[in-house]
This record gives sequence, structure tokens and C-alpha cells, in this order.
Amino acid sequence: MVTCRIILGGDLPDLAGRRRDIHRRLPAPTSIRDALEALGIPHGEIGRILLDGAAASLADLVGDGSRVEAWPAVPADLADPRFLCDLHLGKLVRLLRFCGFDTLWEPGLREAALARLAVRDRRTVLSRHRALLKRSAIGSSLLIRSNRPDAQLAEVLQRFRLAGRIRRPGRCATCNGTLVATAKADVPAPIPPRTAAWLDEYWVCAGCGQVFWEGTHVQRLRDRVARIVAAIG
Ligand SMILES: [Zn+2]
Repeated sequence: MVTCRIILGGDLPDLAGRRRDIHRRLPAPTSIRDALEALGIPHGEIGRILLDGAAASLADLVGDGSRVEAWPAVPADLADPRFLCDLHLGKLVRLLRFCGFDTLWEPGLREAALARLAVRDRRTVLSRHRALLKRSAIGSSLLIRSNRPDAQLAEVLQRFRLAGRIRRPGRCATCNGTLVATAKADVPAPIPPRTAAWLDEYWVCAGCGQVFWEGTHVQRLRDRVARIVAAIG
């Protein structure tokens, strides 16, 4: 057995979601990856690591009396983060797309295929399932702790510092396609007369052709997202 101290930096939460400085007894040999995953932190959430003050990797072994410090990973491209959500996060998917973040959702895919897709597209995997995020193939990830969509969005915005990157009109809630501003006369589908009478801005999804406008439903969603952003400061 080895005894070590693990210090979690940034807002990296352990399984209990609150401890920052943890003493552990672990079987030897144990890698930093195993030590952190035993705390409920998937390897894809981990960015910078120090072992006894020196830069280290997930594969390095924890020695007796070691001090491990770990900070959360950030997506490779923070300006254009790309996500892949597991099948349980459909409501979060719609919120992320509403906020303009490129978010894939393939609820029919099995875990192995999901992992392959994440690697191929270099997407950050968002999941409620620790076992999925423990898969070696998965790179960047975030274990979603809450089961409420608003709190889930807050977790993503907070971890990846994205509150300032919310962009409207967002992406298509249905297919993740980009929305193209389109003149009222060029909208390819009939607009309800009461909408056409008072709105002049429309967007058409480049993926599925669905037409969007800023109706009352969208205003309610904007207010909801604004409340979530205000709550995380
Ligand atoms: Zn679409």
C-alpha cells in the first residue's frame, strides 16, 4: 500500500463534490489515473497534473508519501468547443444548442461507438455515466453531476468558462445545424400569419431546413439561460 495526498485544483469535484484535499491509502502500484478515477473523477476531466511539484502524466505512479495536484482539463479549442452528449442528456443538448454550442447527440449509439465518434471529431464527452468516461479512448470529458437540465447547463458553462461565449441565434435544437439569417420573403416554409405580422427576423437551419424566429418560447428560454448565467456569476 502507498499513502498519498491528492489536492484538487480549480473546480474539479470528487465523488462527494466537495473535498479539495484528500488523503488516500492505495494499493501499489497505482497510477495517477487510477488514483483520481477511484475518487470518481474520469481521466478526461483532468488537465494539468503535478506529482511532488513536478509536471506529471496520468500514467505516472503514485509513490508512498506522494503529493498529487490535479486541475480540470479544458477543451482543445475554447473558442469553438464541441460536445457529444450521452443518451440521458437530451434536454441539456437542446439548451447547449440554444446557446450556440456545437453539440452532437446520437442516443442510438452504444458506448464504444460513442467513444469512437468523440475521438474522431475531437469532442468533449458530457455524460452522467462514470463508466463511459473511464473508457481509455475518451479524451476530454465532463461527468455531469446533476439530473436537472438547468443545473447541468450551469456545470458545463462553469467548468469550461463558457458563459461569455453564448451566441444567439444558436444552433438548430433538432439537428445541431447552423442557422442562416433569411429574409422573410425567402423563408421556405409558411410562417404563421400572426408571427409574420410582427416579426421580421428569421433563420433557416442549414441542416434540416427548419425555420426559427424569436417568438415567446425563445424569449422564455433566453430568460431561463440568463438566470442560469446570473446564478453562476
Ligand atoms: Zn436542423
